[in-house]
Amino acid sequence: MDQMTFENKKVLVYGWARSGRAVYQFLKELGAQVFLTTDDKPRDLPNDINFVTDIDESFAYLVKNPGIRYDKPIIQKALALNIPVMTEVQVALSQYHGEVVAVTGSNGKTTTTTLIGKMLQADQVDVKIGGNIGVPVSELLLTKPYPKVLMLELSSFQLEGAQNIEPRIAVITNLFASHIDFHGTRANYLKAKFAITQNQTADDYLVLNDASADEKDFAKRSHAQAYYFSPTNTHTTSYVNNDVIYFEDEKIIDLDEVVLVGEHNLENILAAITAAKLFGVSNQAIKAVLRSFSGLEHRLEHVGTIHGRIVYNDSKATDIEATQKALGSFKQDITLIAGGLDRGDDLTRLVPNLKKVVNLIVYGQTKNKLQEAGKLAAISKIVVLDNLDEAVAKAKEISQPDQVILFSPAAASWDQFANFEIRGREFKKLIQAEEGWS
Ligand code: ADP
Repeated sequence: MDQMTFENKKVLVYGWARSGRAVYQFLKELGAQVFLTTDDKPRDLPNDINFVTDIDESFAYLVKNPGIRYDKPIIQKALALNIPVMTEVQVALSQYHGEVVAVTGSNGKTTTTTLIGKMLQADQVDVKIGGNIGVPVSELLLTKPYPKVLMLELSSFQLEGAQNIEPRIAVITNLFASHIDFHGTRANYLKAKFAITQNQTADDYLVLNDASADEKDFAKRSHAQAYYFSPTNTHTTSYVNNDVIYFEDEKIIDLDEVVLVGEHNLENILAAITAAKLFGVSNQAIKAVLRSFSGLEHRLEHVGTIHGRIVYNDSKATDIEATQKALGSFKQDITLIAGGLDRGDDLTRLVPNLKKVVNLIVYGQTKNKLQEAGKLAAISKIVVLDNLDEAVAKAKEISQPDQVILFSPAAASWDQFANFEIRGREFKKLIQAEEGWS
């Protein structure tokens, strides 16, 4: 890719969310003449922003928010005028000459990105973490000096508009058949995700899940050195054998020293170890992170042991698959609190996963369907209630010490909460309150 320059060029930024604001500022500092467009003009726009409603041939680039689809008229017009269309990731990376470690995939991106970032930090690497995970890449680069390493989580939409990306290490956590977003077909979905490796060379690394065969076909087309991880296949680079995690033939850590629970998280841990080892991170730093990191907020988050109950907040579990994964993570008896928005899902799919559930407490729109699933699973105690307050009070009353209390709703929050974060925080507040514990 030709070196892009922005000085004195006219650039149109499309979208005024956090990444739009960051790249607007970033482009101004690069000496560009920056203009903004949005579908609806924001009311609180600062006076010094050049707002326009159209694009013409005088513009050199269009930088769009990753969520904006290519069929929008302004983007179609830009493409017809041969004006390159990109996301802020491409603008930022055009100015960055350090090393990039990048993670994409269907699920587990944020967890894997966080794990690798923490492992690099624990090894004193000068790294900044961002991308899809919160801080836009251009915001990471608003202050100098730039970090030696950028640790990025990238969605396929960000990748689609980042033709210049060349990570030293690229990680694809997994590519689920059920996720094709709006890419239309599985082949298009794989192509969008594999864009992460499009400019990699033989000196670079590509870290992949051993699970799916069609991924391997794609990997063969990459120039990077491919390394696979698997919780089960001991012929991969990073694997588990007799409850010990290995990288190649080297023992890294005993599973019972790892704080993060969940079968799915084991895959994220293996992905992270593979990337960290390929980067050259010490075992000591890797182990320190695995012995301390207890998960991201709302994703099977360990809240603590409260009155002898081991409490987890999994409010991010807005679908059945996520709750199935959560339920598979414990050896102890579980008091499960679930329920939320009814999207018409068949909740009897949970039945085989309810084996460890001794108390099922349900609320919200899906309560009756969950009650049915509980009956099919022959759970002895099922309590149907109206809201989370009542559900948590009941959990305090009927759970026993040494059991797990798991809040994993298997539904979106919008019947009673603005989002899963607010729902998760409410759960934590209620369960931590002294009231109701005997
Ligand atoms: P993402 O950033 O890709 O959305 P997160 O790390 O935030 O992923 O995890 C979100 C949810 O996805 C988790 O709560 C869990 O239910 C599920 N999940 C995470 N990692 C995996 C994985 N490796 N395989 C399957 N599901 C996963």
